[in-house]
Amino acid sequence: MLGAPALRLCAAPQADTSGNEKLADDLFIIRVPGEAAVVAQTSSNGVLLVDGGSAAGSDAILKAVAALPNGSAKIHTLFNTHWHPEQTGSNEKLGMAGTTIIAQENTRLWLGQNITWPWNGRKFKKLPKIAQPNKTFYDKGTLDSGIRYGYIPDAAHTDGDLYVFFPQQNVLAVGDAAYGQGWPVVDYWTGGWIGGIAGGLQRILSIANKDTKIVPAVGPVLGYADITAQADMYGMIYDRLSQMLNKGRGPTEAVEAKPAKEYEAKMGNPDEFIRRAFESLWAYLSPDA
Ligand SMILES: [Zn+2]
Repeated sequence: MLGAPALRLCAAPQADTSGNEKLADDLFIIRVPGEAAVVAQTSSNGVLLVDGGSAAGSDAILKAVAALPNGSAKIHTLFNTHWHPEQTGSNEKLGMAGTTIIAQENTRLWLGQNITWPWNGRKFKKLPKIAQPNKTFYDKGTLDSGIRYGYIPDAAHTDGDLYVFFPQQNVLAVGDAAYGQGWPVVDYWTGGWIGGIAGGLQRILSIANKDTKIVPAVGPVLGYADITAQADMYGMIYDRLSQMLNKGRGPTEAVEAKPAKEYEAKMGNPDEFIRRAFESLWAYLSPDA
């Protein structure tokens, strides 16, 4: 199966004129251009969201949520799949409105401090207290509505990744623990690494079944076969990079060795991804790390 294109088993998405995508009668993906996916579950008690977009996109997203069938401006629960600002930009507004903001404990810790990425100097300001997650967990939990959520401890993308599983609709929201298009960001500064990408995808397979719709933050809805193909691909790249590390090679040599060459036609230029993925091994595998 290696190198085989990912199969798209899901039915074509039902997009209405707003660009929203219907997963079930009460479950939608809000798609605002330039924003990461936001999953919204409507009910008579208000709306539950998985991720809230960026601060710049927050107004448009919340407006789209209120306009859903049975939608509402009342958001009772917000999950943060991880700390990145593409996911946590509605936290302040919703925190002030009294929303329960659920995150894995590590995500709360990252949101409470200033962060600078060493590879490009990008700076992130800590969130004010009201915007920080107000309900955290370490392992997993279940809401009264039956929705299950849990930690993805592999550090696929950060060290605070969570999933949210909607059993009735058989939908699994995974944030950036899986990518629907392009090479992933390897945020090794807050714990993500190439071994975790491969491990996180295996974990997603262990939570999902063959019919589960898997919703990544970026790109289209994925099926079980898509995640299986990705797990194979990242597992292969992880093995190749680990072997190079063990031979004492560095990131530039890793990029030049083209360890993702059979995937480039489908996935695009991997150089930045490979460089960062290699650097992420230092944090996890180097004897002197
Ligand atoms: Zn992210």
